[in-house]
Amino acid sequence: MELALLRDAVAELKDQLIGKLWSKYQTWPMYSKFFDNQGALPLHIHHDDEHAARVNANGKPEAYYFPPQLNNHGGDFPYTFFGLQPGVTKEEVIEALRNFTKGDNRICDLSAAYHLTPGTGWFTPPGTLHAPGSLCTYEPQKASDVFAMYESVVHNQVLSEELLWKDTPPEEMGNHEYLLEVIDWELNTDPLFAQKHFMKPVPVLDLSVMRAEGYEEKWICYLSKDFSAKELTVLPGASVTIKDGGAYGLYVIQGHGTMGVWDIESPALIRYGQLTHDEYFVSEDAAKAGVTITNPSKSDPIVMLKHFGPDAHENMPFPLR
Ligand SMILES: [Zn+2]
Repeated sequence: MELALLRDAVAELKDQLIGKLWSKYQTWPMYSKFFDNQGALPLHIHHDDEHAARVNANGKPEAYYFPPQLNNHGGDFPYTFFGLQPGVTKEEVIEALRNFTKGDNRICDLSAAYHLTPGTGWFTPPGTLHAPGSLCTYEPQKASDVFAMYESVVHNQVLSEELLWKDTPPEEMGNHEYLLEVIDWELNTDPLFAQKHFMKPVPVLDLSVMRAEGYEEKWICYLSKDFSAKELTVLPGASVTIKDGGAYGLYVIQGHGTMGVWDIESPALIRYGQLTHDEYFVSEDAAKAGVTITNPSKSDPIVMLKHFGPDAHENMPFPLR
């Protein structure tokens, strides 16, 4: 069997694979990964388009969803710091940034942590300070790697100063004011930050209507204009045809069955480098025509997480940011 990268498949098949997104992006403009850290990550930030452009990159919004199937324990720190406490001053933040090389700069003292709950998620726009916690996290995001680490010591590990200045343009190196400017001040100090960025799953249609047809589908990431994600559950014994408006990647995180001509199954154990039947990519044409998923189990649902690029849906539950 010959292996190929999704990137090469997109370059070869173009709009036949990703449909309307090809003419605008000439690439698949998002991706989703899992991160499964024992402890919290350092408080960091992703630049917005304007600051990212200064290092020839794109800005990066990201979102988190904590699948119950992958979270039978919370890890060492199932809390995420977001933003800054209202009342924190720019002087306090810049002092913490200047203290990066003087031991623990304790910048999280200026932030606020939220207890993470399996089966829910958060949206993190560019310019938001955040220190993701230790739940196993499904993370749809815009395809970009821009970031800078603003916390100097986390779980007794010292971060290199290079990470503080990562993705800073050469002419701003050493300028702590620039690091401060990357922080979207209004967003970070908004007292309603949690209410505006926490994401509880939202059923795509009336739940009883979907259950009668053998499935349940919920929006799990639905606030970003750059990407979105849904959780699809196909009930035991059911066969359903699900339509979507755009291409998507998917992971099967519970159960087994078929999707079109393909076998799908969530593996119990993956060894490094092994291929599995839990990850697929659906072309825009196939998504629009509808994908038939059949669950032969008498007891186990099929659960999959599906991540989309921009402009995939016309029925998003909230205005996009
Ligand atoms: Zn991040």
